[in-house]
Amino acid sequence: MRDTPSAEVRGARAAQPPADPFRLGSDAVLAALHVEAGAGLSARAAEARLQRWGRNELRAAEPVPAWRKVLAQFTDILVVLLLVAAAVSAGLWLYEREAGLPYEALAILAIVILNAAMGYVQEARADRAVAALRRMSAAQARVVRDGTVQAIPAADLVPGDIIRLEEGDTIPADARLIETSLLQTMEAALTGESLPVLKDVAPVGGAAELGNRSNMVFTGTAVASGRGVAVVTATGMRTELGRIAGILRETPDESTPLQVELDRVGRRLGLVVAGIAVVLIATIVAVEPVRDVHAFLGVLILGVALAVAAVPEGLPAIVTAALSLGVQRMARRKAIVRHLAAVETLGSADVIASDKTGTLTCNEMTVRVVATASGRTELGGSGYAPVGPLSHAGAPLAEALQAEVRQALLAGELANNAVLQERDGRWVVEGDPTEGALITAARKAGLEAGPVAQRFVRLAEIPFSSERRLMSTVHGEADPDAPLLVAAKGAPDVVLARCAQEFVGGLCRALTPERRSAITAVTEALAGEGLRSLGVAFRPLARSSLGGARPDGSVEQDLVFLGLIGMTDPPRAEAREAVAQARAAGIRPIMITGDHPGTAAAIAAELGIATEARALTGAELDTLSREALEETVRTVSVYARVAPEHKLRIVQALQRNGLTVAMTGDGVNDAPALKAADIGVAMGLTGTDVSREAADIVLADDNFATIVAAVEEGRAIFANIRKFLYYLLSSNIGEVATMVLGVLLAGALGLTASGSGEVVLPLQATQILWINFVTDGAPALALGIDPADPAVMRHPPRPRREGVLTRRMWEGIAFVGLVTACGSLFVLDACLPGGFIAGEGTLPYAQTMTFTTLVLFQLFNVFNVRSDDRSAVEGLFGNPWLWAAIVLSLLLQAAVVHLPVLQRAFSTVSLSAGDWAFCTAVASSVLVLGEVRKWLIRASRGARLT
Ligand code: ATP
Repeated sequence: MRDTPSAEVRGARAAQPPADPFRLGSDAVLAALHVEAGAGLSARAAEARLQRWGRNELRAAEPVPAWRKVLAQFTDILVVLLLVAAAVSAGLWLYEREAGLPYEALAILAIVILNAAMGYVQEARADRAVAALRRMSAAQARVVRDGTVQAIPAADLVPGDIIRLEEGDTIPADARLIETSLLQTMEAALTGESLPVLKDVAPVGGAAELGNRSNMVFTGTAVASGRGVAVVTATGMRTELGRIAGILRETPDESTPLQVELDRVGRRLGLVVAGIAVVLIATIVAVEPVRDVHAFLGVLILGVALAVAAVPEGLPAIVTAALSLGVQRMARRKAIVRHLAAVETLGSADVIASDKTGTLTCNEMTVRVVATASGRTELGGSGYAPVGPLSHAGAPLAEALQAEVRQALLAGELANNAVLQERDGRWVVEGDPTEGALITAARKAGLEAGPVAQRFVRLAEIPFSSERRLMSTVHGEADPDAPLLVAAKGAPDVVLARCAQEFVGGLCRALTPERRSAITAVTEALAGEGLRSLGVAFRPLARSSLGGARPDGSVEQDLVFLGLIGMTDPPRAEAREAVAQARAAGIRPIMITGDHPGTAAAIAAELGIATEARALTGAELDTLSREALEETVRTVSVYARVAPEHKLRIVQALQRNGLTVAMTGDGVNDAPALKAADIGVAMGLTGTDVSREAADIVLADDNFATIVAAVEEGRAIFANIRKFLYYLLSSNIGEVATMVLGVLLAGALGLTASGSGEVVLPLQATQILWINFVTDGAPALALGIDPADPAVMRHPPRPRREGVLTRRMWEGIAFVGLVTACGSLFVLDACLPGGFIAGEGTLPYAQTMTFTTLVLFQLFNVFNVRSDDRSAVEGLFGNPWLWAAIVLSLLLQAAVVHLPVLQRAFSTVSLSAGDWAFCTAVASSVLVLGEVRKWLIRASRGARLT
């Protein structure tokens, strides 16, 4: 029997987005798409449509195929040089046929391939990390499905979905508006229009250009202000953006300042080494009996090997790997990094300027007090559960007070867009927590959900914004003769300024100046208790005064003051600790809030952000000159009643003081401040899409403590990058110094030609390449994931201008290089007849010993570089990867020394246990001397402090 298609599948087949939805009425568009505005699609219908139309994604550019990535590994100039060296070596072998196989050429080739494989693996890992980040920051859309509002990944939207849009949302698909409330969108990305465009629902006639389709919203644009509801008409490549862009271009890989600096260091080093190699070759040719082409080419290969060994060519890949691994670690700690560069900048943050609500506090509002004309009412209960007693001075409410409280909370419930829901036995708020708390309070006062919504039908809204600090709605009752009702709520001072009367026991009375002062005093008192306060008001409005769905500001005048509502928003438990941690790390936390200065100061004191009870307000800030503000920001740490543009001024003033600023923001208008800050931090839960796109980091949990954790990670990552840079450079310089000094002092060391025409060198070219491969590989990688030094958050931020390599590090690098060279040459000398110490070994034996000593030097050096001044013994076993890398390197070295096939390739001979012990003893000197040096550094610092 054939299955008959389900209703959903039939609906999906029948639904057809109209060609020009902007020409039709919204009802016609809904009908064509087989959807009802109130209920939206069902989950099954959406699934069926997803099958038909596909995911709401722009097609990504073709990924670079693996073979091209592999090939790219061979384009480096050094690798090319090595390949040439291998070819020359193979040519020599062909010419002479001394050995059965071209061992040297094969060894060089093997090392090139191994290096390329390592580079490829590291790059692939970095790519995966970046892809995972993209997924984490994927956009969400608010959609009505099965009659409820849900947040779903924007990629799952289908034609017919009903989406809700709010200030700051990016538009997830092309859609026909069916409801708007002062909706304005920013369409610059699509049309080039730089001003926000006002939207409505009326059909548009004629051949309207994109920019004139005022009843449509388009993918890739964003809501500047207001709200709207729309039905999706096109998704993915069928959207206007999909048609124009054709293809989603990958964001180009950006280099971080550190990568740029390292590139520069690498390049300079390359030049220096190339110079050294040329000089060395010239010296060898001059002092050694280089008589034939064979000998000359041998020396040339050695020069290439030396250059390759000395330049830390793996550095960019390791840095990227360290950064992206750090990014993953940060993601686990709920900080999602959008730009790699932020990882570095975080480590040098001097100031963290944070919002209060939700970041330093829980953003779980509970109304505690309603202060009306007849007195103060306390509300019991906890969370958003709509149960809790109302009392006045411990007693039930008198009738007049009851009437006032109910009216005040009714206004709070009407001028409201939140939804209070019980989900799995828990009461939760969909929308703004401040508004959710008002609904909960209204229920506690006995106002029931159904009757309120039925009686007062919303006709219009003037939305809240951080600049206006006020929101109003206009409602009509069923009785056509009844006047309309305006409900308003907002910051107490803003509301009070618009009131001419107040509501007392059911009657309206004129507001006297004394009563205004009394209300202001109550506001201050509530703020002093750390309560977030709102004022509520209402007014009747003649029906004729409402000119359509877009009321002007006049409806918010002549209001009747209903009262003040005080709500708690407890500080986050972990915020206090995080503030203390930031302070210990030399970072100054600053609070910037739209809330009342009293509330801000109370919470700031509770969290330890500021001891002085002073908060600078936005109005005061406006009176300050650029210079005065620059001076003020040095000491003031709490800013209240500020608007987004003040944030920008504060950031810039802090930056003019030479400080590196991390700044949080959530609204559309915070975007400029987020961009201006050295590290823009957006909120993952409550922030707008626009703010997230402007930010460098998104907090998955909106939590201040997460910023501090990210700073800690940032510092640790930077420290690790320094560690392996220090390691690579000191190891490589050790090798170069050994070779150079070995050649220059050849006579004194007993390194002389025994036969004719043989060039005698401290090490073979292949051996140098091998050292480079073993030490630049696993140990360097393991250093990149070294656990954070417990002291990272106990010292002040790294100055932004301080280079990645400090003077002390250069001194350390020179020190290690010298010790390595001296130790290795000592072994060489001791193994050979003649020289300072007369040995009795053959040349291959002496070279194998020197070679092994050099490798061991590098392995001991790993422990040196883990800290500038702490003893290597501290946290010795803290990084198991490091130990694994060392064991692996030792095994590889043992194989090269003892396996016959490798002996031939690397010109080595077997060593006895005693030989190994001797090499180990000499190589350990770098650690011992390093400890002495660190001890001296600590002692001199101690002496300076006392
Ligand atoms: P922060 O800037 O730390 O997030 P905030 O949430 O208090 O603090 P805003 O959102 O700018 O900052 O709010 C400023 C003031 O506006 C609040 O103190 C409150 O009095 C009032 N307010 C906040 N939310 C609403 C709302 N939904 N409707 C009306 N008024 C509001």
